[in-house]
Amino acid sequence: MSDCIFCKIAEKKIPSKIVHEDDKVVAFDDVNPQAPTHVLVIPRKHVASIADLNEADASLLGHLMLTGNKIARQKGIAEGGYRLVVNTGKNGGQTVFHLHLHVLGGRPMHWPPG
Ligand code: AMP
Repeated sequence: MSDCIFCKIAEKKIPSKIVHEDDKVVAFDDVNPQAPTHVLVIPRKHVASIADLNEADASLLGHLMLTGNKIARQKGIAEGGYRLVVNTGKNGGQTVFHLHLHVLGGRPMHWPPG
């Protein structure tokens, strides 16, 4: 989508620190990290939020989550534990409307979230 910031990151039209990419997803450092490791994993295809996915997207969604695991191993946070988060819609705290998985780690996480 032409005015989507994450589409532009996936297309490398605006700079980001890409840590992993393949034909389906791109992963890059969050510009405002909330933990020592904070990476966003996005599908290359524009999807506004996880709420817009259906059964036909099951393999893409699985790949997105498994890429989160891969990033956690790559960043050395897998053993200590980490958090995968998908903020969804207004009450979910979503601010960028291109589906993204937050991979957070490198410090203890708290519950309940804010
Ligand atoms: P959310 O609130 O779940 O929609 O998360 C959006 C995330 O995108 C926030 O953590 C932002 O810091 C991050 N973000 C926004 N713009 C950029 C950008 N240009 N590069 C990297 N991360 C970004």
